[in-house]
Amino acid sequence: MRLSKYFLPVLKETPKEAEIVSHRLMLRAAMLKQEASGLYAWLPLGYRVLRKVQNIIEQEQDRAGAIELLMPTLQPADLWRESGRYDAYGKEMLRVTDRHERDMLYGPTNEEMITSIFRSNVKSYKDLPLNLYHIQWKFRDEIRPRFGTMRSREFLMKDAYSFDLDKEASVKSYHRMFVSYLRTYYRMGLTAIPMQAETGPIGGDLSHEFIVLADTGESGVFCDKALLDQPIPPKDVDYDGDLTSYVNDWTKLYAATEDMIDMDKFQAEVPEERRVEARGIEVGQVFYFGTKYSEPMGATVADANGKDVPVHMGSYGIGLTRLVPAIIEASHDDDGIIWPVSVAPFELALINLKTGDESCVEQCDALYQQLENAGIEVLYDDRDMGAGGKFATADLIGLPYQMIVGPRGLKNNEVEIKNRKTGDRTNVSLEQAVDFLLERIVPERRQDI
Ligand code: ATP
Ligand code: MG
Repeated sequence: MRLSKYFLPVLKETPKEAEIVSHRLMLRAAMLKQEASGLYAWLPLGYRVLRKVQNIIEQEQDRAGAIELLMPTLQPADLWRESGRYDAYGKEMLRVTDRHERDMLYGPTNEEMITSIFRSNVKSYKDLPLNLYHIQWKFRDEIRPRFGTMRSREFLMKDAYSFDLDKEASVKSYHRMFVSYLRTYYRMGLTAIPMQAETGPIGGDLSHEFIVLADTGESGVFCDKALLDQPIPPKDVDYDGDLTSYVNDWTKLYAATEDMIDMDKFQAEVPEERRVEARGIEVGQVFYFGTKYSEPMGATVADANGKDVPVHMGSYGIGLTRLVPAIIEASHDDDGIIWPVSVAPFELALINLKTGDESCVEQCDALYQQLENAGIEVLYDDRDMGAGGKFATADLIGLPYQMIVGPRGLKNNEVEIKNRKTGDRTNVSLEQAVDFLLERIVPERRQDI
């Protein structure tokens, strides 16, 4: 993409309304624009990141055996009357009436609707296990939307729903999602720690929140430091096999949010030097809630003896529009964002230092072509302006690598390559520049881990 033809209205000033660094940087880097309280437009640069996050989630969900579908944002109130949640949900639910005076709502979550899809289509235990998910906008009329898309009213969520014959099988489904979550966050460059959590309005008795440590996080958390170095299940993990050992590795060390903390247990189980008391961002939550929805809504299957039994369910959420700021909270410096390659809007900023110089332009155009042909995602700063502004923009929007091309280097047949994260700069010959980048970028895409 040529920057001269792109839409990237970066801001020089720091917007006053933004209280935390990710919100400031998302506004400054022209990723977002606020349209109303808790409602945001995703501008092109931000939307590219959101799509990358979505791709990773889809790949890891599919790998774990979940099947993608798409349910509508608006739902009939009658479905929620069946589960009893229409009245229980309170003011967080946005309620609307259609032209026929039918009560509708903008879905804050989809347990009821997926249960109705299940009950009209699945009748036998032979069709289980089943896990269906979608990635769709949700609306919760939060009392205090804040921190940009970290806590907004409309937000994009991946929600998966598992269906099993009994509790034992349902726990296996829970484990599949648990393992796939560990891999999902890791691929985005994050360490997300599963912590025992309360189930809240979703219900049930088994739940973990996945938490990214960050000073600006809204939850107080307590955990064993050793969790930060715990290995991630590999790409070829056998989702049909027994995943208990992976889950045990991640749950045997103490980790709990402030709602669930047992101080005596925390102090007894974690040696003092490994005790982490910190703030964290909830980037996902998994629940097992048994027959809480299937019973009142009549979602049953025939078991092996032909007897109809209510199906056991779990649900599994990931907040995509919260993940983007969470990644920024975990990875930035004074100059701007530092994207991990796997979610970067572009992988490389190609910076032409001298747009007035014909041979410099020619070389940059040729490099741009070569880089694109090599499959590297390039944002080519071909704008007619000084180098200082170009460097500032590249640092602010946080592309992982910069290739800096100017007449002086070209005289020696060289370009400079800067690593945004480490600040390292290397002079590389024109012939080797593309390979030099591929060697670094390809493994950092984390597609094969
Ligand atoms: P919170 O406690 O932060 O209000 P929650 O526990 O109500 O979240 P869940 O029902 O578990 O949220 O939803 C699944 C995921 O969706 C959360 O883990 C979070 O990442 C995301 N999410 C929830 N509410 C919001 C919101 N208002 N804005 C952005 N993301 C959200
Ligand atoms: Mg939650």
